[in-house]
Amino acid sequence: MRFAKRLDQVPPYLFAELERKIAAKRREGVDVISLGIGDPDLPTPEPVIAALAEAARDPATHQYPTNHGSEELRSAAAGFYRDRFGVELDPSAEIVPALGGKEAVGHVALVLLDPGDVALSPDPGYPPYTSGPLFAGADVHYLPLERENAFQPDLDSVPDEVLARANVLFLNYPNNPTGAVLEPGLFERAVELARDADLVVVHDNAYSEICFDGYRAPSFLETPGAKEVGIEIFSPSKGWNMTGWRAGLVAGNAEVVERYRQLKTNLDSGMFEAVQRATAAALSEAREFPRAMSEVYRRRRDIVAEALDAIGLEVDPPRATPYFWVAVPEGYTSESFCELVLEQAGVVVSPGPAYGPSGEGFFRISLTVPDERLEEAVRRIETSLRAGIIEA
Ligand SMILES: *Cc1c(COP(=O)(O)O)cnc(C)c1O
Repeated sequence: MRFAKRLDQVPPYLFAELERKIAAKRREGVDVISLGIGDPDLPTPEPVIAALAEAARDPATHQYPTNHGSEELRSAAAGFYRDRFGVELDPSAEIVPALGGKEAVGHVALVLLDPGDVALSPDPGYPPYTSGPLFAGADVHYLPLERENAFQPDLDSVPDEVLARANVLFLNYPNNPTGAVLEPGLFERAVELARDADLVVVHDNAYSEICFDGYRAPSFLETPGAKEVGIEIFSPSKGWNMTGWRAGLVAGNAEVVERYRQLKTNLDSGMFEAVQRATAAALSEAREFPRAMSEVYRRRRDIVAEALDAIGLEVDPPRATPYFWVAVPEGYTSESFCELVLEQAGVVVSPGPAYGPSGEGFFRISLTVPDERLEEAVRRIETSLRAGIIEA
């Protein structure tokens, strides 16, 4: 059998590697705790479940939905954007449902990139910012996110010849995997660059609702001129514990929204109408839920910050996202340190390079595990790891 080369260009999905290692340890009888994957452990809020259950009993939801999405979902999304971000969106032209943020990232790349084009993608970054463009036959130019630069890309560093071929700039704040929040001026600079270089800004807003210590993350669409040059991908996955539901939105520039919708009429037939009703409930009736979730993560964050400090690791507790991005101690690579943590503590953390080459020297801890498991992981790290680090 012969296969298209498409899949050969992308590294094996990070979590496939991790899952293999975890499985091997478990076979040895170790009670492995994974802090590797960002998948909320708590249930979806009740009003969302109730809306789905009721909608599922209504036969009107059982037929093909449309790729435009229901009026109800689009208005709920517009209402949410107005009240939460002060952003006005035309529900008939500037909002369309997505089957999750990930799907939107990948397919937006197919909408905007031809072979020979370039995507400007943060490094480290969410893997689909790389695989989406590669599947489109385009090249990826990495924008390193460095600690010295508060994990913001240096948009002025992109060489002119790269900029001439670039047609997409991916941004993501609050950021996965670094936990960084937006620094003032970056979105404005992105709009300016998009105008000068004639490219489209795609802001992945997966974490705006998971914020701590009074911080409130903005939408890219609040930036003057944003709608002329870009879109935002929004997802209820993290804020409303809905990763399993496959719901999301593409909002902003009407032409990009329309092209994305057209592409999808060729690939899928829209979002289950009952899930659309449930997502509308999340964005209207359950608006306060992400604040309660943020409080859960804040408490877990503080527990982890204390443990990392206790074993002598330098920590910068995040102000948003359920992630810690931590530098490995001297004498280790990301991989050797992650192996040490697995060996000594039976705890899985994600090696930085899984998110791109600039991730070397870091690892990511995810707070999306039940409190008692997190506390157990922290206890093991504190008791078994300190000695391990010193020995090395
Ligand atoms: C989790 C996540 C998403 C959204 O995931 P979906 O479940 O597909 O909506 C998008 N971007 C980033 C950076 C994420 O971490």
